[in-house]
Amino acid sequence: FCTKSPHASIPDCQTTYKAIEEINAAIRPALTDLTQNTDYFSYYRLDLYGASCPFWSEDGTCGNIACAVTTIDNEDDIPPIWRAEELSKLAGPKAAHPKNPPPAERPLSGQLGDKTSESCVIEADECDERDYCIPDDQNGRNGDYVSLLANPERFTGYAGSAAHNVWEAIYRENCFSKPSSDVSGFGISDASQAKLGFVNIMQDKAAHKLGPDSMGQPKLPEVEVDDECLEKRVFYRLISGMHSSISVHLCWNYLNQTTGTWGPNAQCFEERFNGRMERIDNMYFNYALLLRAVQKLKNYVPYYTFCASDYAQNRITKEKFLNLINLIPEEKLYDEKKMFVDGLVSREEFKIRFQNVSRIMDCVGCDKCRMWGKLQIQGYGTALKVLYDFDEDADYESLPQLRRTEMVALVNTLDRLSHSISVLPEFYEMIEAKRRAE
Ligand code: FAD
Repeated sequence: FCTKSPHASIPDCQTTYKAIEEINAAIRPALTDLTQNTDYFSYYRLDLYGASCPFWSEDGTCGNIACAVTTIDNEDDIPPIWRAEELSKLAGPKAAHPKNPPPAERPLSGQLGDKTSESCVIEADECDERDYCIPDDQNGRNGDYVSLLANPERFTGYAGSAAHNVWEAIYRENCFSKPSSDVSGFGISDASQAKLGFVNIMQDKAAHKLGPDSMGQPKLPEVEVDDECLEKRVFYRLISGMHSSISVHLCWNYLNQTTGTWGPNAQCFEERFNGRMERIDNMYFNYALLLRAVQKLKNYVPYYTFCASDYAQNRITKEKFLNLINLIPEEKLYDEKKMFVDGLVSREEFKIRFQNVSRIMDCVGCDKCRMWGKLQIQGYGTALKVLYDFDEDADYESLPQLRRTEMVALVNTLDRLSHSISVLPEFYEMIEAKRRAE
């Protein structure tokens, strides 16, 4: 993707970012319509409190400092409602998952309110050996349904060693050996990053309208045929791109703790991306991968049941989904056929590493962050499942059935990336304006 490597999925870097921005502008309204105006895509089920953090506690519960919400500096000086612990909590009505009886006999919980069609929300418990994530129902607890609309991804104040430990554990799951100069702190040196095929997107800033010069990093060495296999690079980019999108959202919807108002914070953005534009690059990469996965569902969605006993909503949800898919150009931005062909990394290993990341999400100590973290990891896992286990031209009956949580995660993860990419120009403009004023 956008590298000179012969493995690159996208041969023409000059046009890729521009193409993605144009596609994104075209599909954004349909994507927003799907995620915000359907019950199906606006609730997510997850085991928020049941699963223990398997990584750094001895007694199986996540009592470690790493799982706590780290409070922001001078927390005592700010009103309780703006404190990290408060910001981390989930809002809105929650529905507990009905246990045991077969789907047809399940009583609907009725906790999501009269306006929500619960047949579009409550799902059967099934898992599949092809899953890239650990389904939350595997623990036998089944989880709760939470509203994504009532809990926007935004600043929560979750930071410090707690958050860093989790990110570190996640990055450790990618299979790179520790290089000598580890500038990222997580085992990826600048030299390795260049080798991995990162391209300074600011080099092509003029063509892609990506922002002010001061955001650029020193030109990275020309990318050569490298000794890191494509699968490892893809794994790293998926994680890094997800991390970037989370950062964009928390900076975009940031709480000014002096005034109590929410809004974009250019300094927050600059601190995370200045000189590290490859992190933005990875978000574009993820977008291309997810878009391809959604595109691949073109012949699948017409047969899929979204709301078992609500005919009207089933039809409307399907129409909105197909409307989105039909806006995606035929041309592929990500070519899945290039992965897993030379046998260096098997699909099985890739899947196991991905499942481990999905387990690490249980160590995220802030509820809202955990919810969005779990959703996005499941979204990427579902995209991989669709890319590598789905034959586009096969009959619906012979394809693996996607669970509701997978569908919801896939579409909402694309929406997260889409929103991140759509707000980048505003961040660049704010930074540019700040520079001019200095
Ligand atoms: P961090 O973002 O914690 O990064 C740690 C280190 O990782 C950096 O020092 C850098 O070396 C490296 N790094 C950073 N970005 C990248 C990248 N894109 N690619 C590669 N390496 C990178 N906070 C919120 O306010 N709201 C949320 O919704 C939220 N969700 C979260 C979800 C998860 C799963 C996790 C683990 C944390 C979440 N956080 C959230 C916390 C947030 O991600 C940061 O950890 C926090 O804001 C502190 O940021 P930081 O600047 O210290 O660096």
